Amino acid sequence: MDRRFALMIEPAADVRTDYSDTFAIVDASAPALSVGELSTQRGDGVFESIGVVDTHAQETEPHLQRLAHSARLCELPEPNLAQWRQAIGVAAAQCGPGESVIKLILSRGVDHGPAPTAWVTAAPAPDFSAARTSGIRVVTLDRGYDSGAAERSPWLLLGAKTLSYAVNMAALREAHRRGADDAIFVTTDGVVLEAPTASLILRFGDRFVTPAPHGGILQGTTQISLFAHLVQQGFATEYATVPTADLTRADQAWLLSSVRLAAPITAIDDAALTVDHAFTDALNAYLLSPRD
Ligand code: PLP
Repeated sequence: MDRRFALMIEPAADVRTDYSDTFAIVDASAPALSVGELSTQRGDGVFESIGVVDTHAQETEPHLQRLAHSARLCELPEPNLAQWRQAIGVAAAQCGPGESVIKLILSRGVDHGPAPTAWVTAAPAPDFSAARTSGIRVVTLDRGYDSGAAERSPWLLLGAKTLSYAVNMAALREAHRRGADDAIFVTTDGVVLEAPTASLILRFGDRFVTPAPHGGILQGTTQISLFAHLVQQGFATEYATVPTADLTRADQAWLLSSVRLAAPITAIDDAALTVDHAFTDALNAYLLSPRD
């Protein structure tokens, strides 16, 4: 089996032990979606990206819970998590050795056709070893709203992982134009949010801080898992409102996400940060170990 494929899911409402008759595997190069798909026409749907290591899908339950949360925010039908769990298991088993990425996609469906539509894709993961070991330069970018926007305007769907990632991708292109590898979004009133596809953690001595997940950021499954690990190692962890000025006061900083894992930050807006390579390697060794 080619390691790039899609598993099309016929959404089932009933609870049972085996959903395999609702799955159809499609080669990645074969047509699979209707031209009336609202995910492709409007980005109207939600998704998850899951890291897979040696056929083990990492943090399946947190990803499923976040998929359900995003679906609720978007008023999509409640996903049948037992069916999705089995689909992830089927896809992960076919991923082969090494690192892969599985995406879960739940779309509003087809205009005047079946709704919702759902599928899982699987592919080998990109090689992120340079970002994990040498680190990444980041720039801060204005997200264009203040820290009250999520609460004031829930229809902006801030905090949902929607398929409308054009803004996130544009921010990455802007970061590249400015000579950086990635970006950190900040609000118009100077509060640090997250990266376009990753969470931020900052280290101050033995304390690790991440922007509080209320107010328009997506809480990262990797950040939650790493905080639990850091607590076990005796470190303090904290969710806080982080003013932009605190960014360069940090001793170290990382961007965290499910597939790239922990990428140490070497500079924020031209202010250099030190990288503890041995510590970062240990973080990534933990993140690559089987996690549920
Ligand atoms: N924030 C945003 C906007 C993201 O897109 C992502 C990942 O895709 C994250 C944070 C990190 O989430 P996770 O650690 O679950 O991959």
